[in-house]
Amino acid sequence: MKLILATSNKGKVREIKALCEDFEVIPYSELIDEFEIIEDGSSFKENALIKARAVFKALNEEMAGELKDIVVIADDSGISVDVLDGKPGIYSARHAGKNANDKDNLHKLIQDIKDKNVTSSPAHYTAAIAIVTKNSEYVVHGWMYGTAISEAIGDGGFGYDPSFIPLGHDKTLGQLDDEVKKRLSHRSKALELARVIIKSL
Ligand code: IMP
Repeated sequence: MKLILATSNKGKVREIKALCEDFEVIPYSELIDEFEIIEDGSSFKENALIKARAVFKALNEEMAGELKDIVVIADDSGISVDVLDGKPGIYSARHAGKNANDKDNLHKLIQDIKDKNVTSSPAHYTAAIAIVTKNSEYVVHGWMYGTAISEAIGDGGFGYDPSFIPLGHDKTLGQLDDEVKKRLSHRSKALELARVIIKSL
């Protein structure tokens, strides 16, 4: 079965492909031109649905007939830090501003933690995965708990990973092997549920 991914975020694409090896996973930007999707929902769930619906609609309009029985999946995710009252949460991709990249966002998060006069805080990642087909829509979630720290260590993973230590570990996701994140992550937990749904379609 072909799964069309409603994202071109390289980190997400890499991880989703590794977690869905038994499906053919295709980022939508390999099929049609990438377009801006306004993520104005008030939750991870709403934003995941907004992205999956937008890509499903565009694929049907631009490739009608060429693709049969499309299954579109979207991932909306982010980090919530307790000492920052749960921020950046659904605004994780724009924490340092509208056109911020992963590095800008990471450094702003580190500065925000320092500004609270602490060096670490409990934190968690959330992933909402939306699945949209011709006849159905589903959303599942996954979480990963741990500690956000006020420095960046390691260059593995992506996004906020160099500042996140998962529960039960003493190294950041930037330092730990990809296999550890694959086992523990919010994305892998959500995809485990998504796989059950996708297989039942
Ligand atoms: P989205 O594309 O609106 O879902 O943005 C998600 C943002 O959250 C990304 O830009 C990353 O900064 C961050 N994020 C989500 N998942 C992860 C992860 O697994 N590791 C590190 N950062 C993540």
